[in-house]
Amino acid sequence: MSSELHDVIIIGGGPAGLATAYLCHKYNLSYLVLESGKAPFQGIANTYPQGKLVYASKPKDAPEPFLVDELRPPDKPVTVESYLQYVQHFVQHENLHIRTEVAFENIQDERDSLTILTDKGRFRGRKVVLAFGSSIPRELSVYGDAKMVAKNVDDPTKYVGVKTLVIGGGNTAADVVIAILKAKRECNDTQPVYWAHKSEKFDVNKETAQRLGEEILLGGNIRLLPGATPRIGEVDDEGVDRLVIRINEFKQADGIDLYHALSFPMQNVIACIGSQGPVPIFDKLGVQTISCTAGVCRVAKEGDRLVLLSAEFESTRKGVYVVGGAISPSYMKISEGSIQEEKHPNLIYTAINDAYHVVEAIRNKLGR
Ligand SMILES: Cc1cc2nc3c(=O)[nH]c(=O)nc-3n(C[C@H](O)[C@H](O)[C@H](O)COP(=O)(O)OP(=O)(O)OC[C@H]3O[C@@H](n4cnc5c(N)ncnc54)[C@H](O)[C@@H]3O)c2cc1C
Repeated sequence: MSSELHDVIIIGGGPAGLATAYLCHKYNLSYLVLESGKAPFQGIANTYPQGKLVYASKPKDAPEPFLVDELRPPDKPVTVESYLQYVQHFVQHENLHIRTEVAFENIQDERDSLTILTDKGRFRGRKVVLAFGSSIPRELSVYGDAKMVAKNVDDPTKYVGVKTLVIGGGNTAADVVIAILKAKRECNDTQPVYWAHKSEKFDVNKETAQRLGEEILLGGNIRLLPGATPRIGEVDDEGVDRLVIRINEFKQADGIDLYHALSFPMQNVIACIGSQGPVPIFDKLGVQTISCTAGVCRVAKEGDRLVLLSAEFESTRKGVYVVGGAISPSYMKISEGSIQEEKHPNLIYTAINDAYHVVEAIRNKLGR
């Protein structure tokens, strides 16, 4: 447990989180960024295709300029790789305080501070800024704890020499399978990659299927497991966390089901089962959301749940602010006694400018 009390704990090191950190640094507020990925801007590194140009897009009707110029993408679009490189230099140059590979889990109220619970222990802050973006990887809903399972692959060579299980039926899972098959082939490793999906049909686009076919023809050892369901997380006799995946099931008349299952060390499993919005996290935190009923929302669809925020982005949990992609494409804004849906395009511009307004609000509250 880190007992140091920070003015602000920032969850997520994307554009919103880093802009918040930079402004805290500039105005002498103590702060710490907790980022679940290996590096700042991990969300962008994971979701932008290679070579994608990054645009300094700004909604047409937005009155403000970029309020943190230092993180603004250049007017002449650059590739995501060079933007990421620039951000890396910026973080080093400003010596921003970031702890990577720390995944946020929950918040506890203390008498005059907040305790932030993570997979690497507890942190303390007077205020918390949630800047975890819009795309939260889905967890396997497995009885027992399956948190150790990876959600993406930074370094496919890590899986050379081991039997690996990739779960998920779409292009992302296929890309991971291809990357691991390639790494194994280049190291003459003949251990298979198991590829499991809960339905009978895998669903990848033509281009991905072609690349996968090529890897298989070049000697890739792949075992397909259609109709397979992850069932349970367990610890074996040697203390290794394992994931059990059922590969087929037979119902018998006597009520005793027969099934076959495979068990993999969790560290050899990668689950690419898509992402979800942050509503389940808001529920866990006890942050209030409001459902859009007919005619109430213009951006969100009927039934969508939107987080309720003050004009300064404070949630219904005191001291907990939410910014950036986490509140896009719209949220419910409380202002002057009324509640209205507020449009909030998911852009670097909005993420950065939210950070500016939140840090102003926090400075006011803390009297700095
Ligand atoms: C393919 C693509 C192209 C895009 N192109 C553009 C463009 O050209 N111009 C533009 O303006 N916008 C673009 N966008 C949108 C832009 O990337 C987002 O608006 C912006 O990244 C939002 O910033 P953010 O900081 O709110 O969230 P993110 O960038 O998603 O950052 C959130 C961070 O929080 C971390 N995190 C998540 N969960 C946790 C947790 N539990 N604990 C700790 N850390 C956590 C993530 O790893 C991530 O690094 C694009 C988006 C996509 C998907």
